[in-house]
Amino acid sequence: MAFELPKLDYSYNALEPYIDAQTMEIHHTKHHGAYTTNLNNALANIPNAPTSIEDILRDISKYPVAVRNNGGGYYNHNLFWKLMKPNGGGTPQGDLADAINRYFGSFEKFKEIFSNAAATRFGSGWAWLIVKSDGSLAVTSTPNQDNPLMDIVEEKGKPILGLDVWEHAYYLKYQNRRPEYIAAFWNIINWDEVSRLLKS
Ligand code: MN
Repeated sequence: MAFELPKLDYSYNALEPYIDAQTMEIHHTKHHGAYTTNLNNALANIPNAPTSIEDILRDISKYPVAVRNNGGGYYNHNLFWKLMKPNGGGTPQGDLADAINRYFGSFEKFKEIFSNAAATRFGSGWAWLIVKSDGSLAVTSTPNQDNPLMDIVEEKGKPILGLDVWEHAYYLKYQNRRPEYIAAFWNIINWDEVSRLLKS
């Protein structure tokens, strides 16, 4: 069984003006496409690998680095596309809003902490909002295509929000201005999906 590149729930220009259509198309078809192909190639010689990407990531220390890089890339982008939508943004509601207030003090404070994690990740990587094993929320960041499900990361948890801060995610429109891309992300977050992940 091979992993497949998922279709997006919206068109490549649907997140304009915050993320441009050309970036979305290249990011999805070329970058995510390559992670998918390379993950399948890396797993081809590994007998009895789990069919669930989450199961693979949880034991990632047992796999070659190609599975770590491409399996992370495959999972992270699957998640990322669902975490955005046209006319998204606004503020979290219900249990998610309560949890954010409880662990960060306020939505504005959470926004500041998450944005700072994204801005200060050196080089390529991701910023995350995770649910830890004790049920608490935390903001973390990981390099490259690592993520908080992996057994090799320092602060583990289930990611419910993630922001890709690789230059390929923003360079065509924002060049070196990563903070502007991070600020734009708040206008397209799909909080319903973040809430769904919190409960799942
Ligand atoms: Mn990416």
